Amino acid sequence: MEAFQSVLGEAVKRLHYPETVYEILKEPMRVLEVNIPVKMDDGTTKIFKGYRAQHNDAMGPTKGGIRFHPDVTADEVSALSGWMSLKCGITDLPYGGGKGGIICDPRTMSMRELERLSRAYVRAVSQIVGPSKDIPAPDMYTNAQVMAWMLDEYDHIREFDSPGFITGKPLALGGSKGRETATSRGLFYILQFIAEKKQMKLEEMRVIVQGFGNVGSYLARYLYEAGAKVVGIADVMGGVYDENGLDVPYLMEKRDSFGAVTHLFENTITNQELLEKECDVLIPAALGGQITEENAPRLNCNIVVEAANGPTTTAGGKVLKERGITVVPDVLANSGGVIVSYFEWVQNNQGYYWEEDLVDERLKTKMAASFQKVYQMAESYKTDMRTAAYMVAVRRLAEACRLRGWID
Ligand code: GLU
Repeated sequence: MEAFQSVLGEAVKRLHYPETVYEILKEPMRVLEVNIPVKMDDGTTKIFKGYRAQHNDAMGPTKGGIRFHPDVTADEVSALSGWMSLKCGITDLPYGGGKGGIICDPRTMSMRELERLSRAYVRAVSQIVGPSKDIPAPDMYTNAQVMAWMLDEYDHIREFDSPGFITGKPLALGGSKGRETATSRGLFYILQFIAEKKQMKLEEMRVIVQGFGNVGSYLARYLYEAGAKVVGIADVMGGVYDENGLDVPYLMEKRDSFGAVTHLFENTITNQELLEKECDVLIPAALGGQITEENAPRLNCNIVVEAANGPTTTAGGKVLKERGITVVPDVLANSGGVIVSYFEWVQNNQGYYWEEDLVDERLKTKMAASFQKVYQMAESYKTDMRTAAYMVAVRRLAEACRLRGWID
């Protein structure tokens, strides 16, 4: 929560808002902790700990993904729910932020075990979620199949079909065209916008993408197709760097379902080494806390575009600021996912489904408007884009809280 709270405090101060705005937003309004028994394939029963955090519902029902990861904590899920509120605030969606997580390692679990875990989680949190209450979605190590199991379980509990309960669903169950690639598509537009501001050409850019999962891999492919040179990529095992550029379509074809790809190479480096290699744009698209005060002095890039949630620590961010490295913050850069989740929910509510071109066009419009708002805020307040992004979001969040009579 510290990373979230420190910038939040700064944003509230810069806007000259009263302390109550900080107080109401500094923590989620609700965090549910659940202990979920699951029958494993070997006949034993294992208890998994899970969470659902709902940061603030003044702007509408809460919204945000569910992650399956061994490092999930209540503190992390809470911060992630706060960042979801900011994303929805910046992009003008009728939602507040939510986030869920289960402490588990999906790489060591069978499909049947994952299905039982997904269903049991929905039963455990069913009282506080719903299509106009709190709408989950995929996040780290969860995907459309997990969403399908969760939807099915929810429909059984409620005894009617409610596709709007969850987004990131398979197309056959009411998913939206373009949802799977939405976060990467949005990031790609952000790269276009920032390139324009910096008077750079995408075709001349050298980029490093850390992470080759759903977000990193599609983004690398869009950049490759646009003519940029993808000089480095990484998965959980390590990274590869080639100043002549990597063959991204080939790597996409060879990666496994968890995004592992570096085993195809003989010469690999560590993730940490990759972050310090020379490039124009560094894109952390994996875990949080990757850019720290320890490695920030050695980064060899001009721009950081945060595809992951929270990849830069507070102290790491300070170093980047001092060094004049532009950071496009996560809450703006990766908001394409939740934007198309919103489109999916709208389509579910309407029962009318859009073509991919329309989804993409509307995504670009929203990304452009959000980027402009944040960029202008940064210019007029002479601040960095992260503080500016928080300011844009806090303005809307505070107004919603005030209109509801929660604060003065
Ligand atoms: N998990 C994604 C995020 O962090 C998407 C959330 C959503 O679609 O609701 O933004």
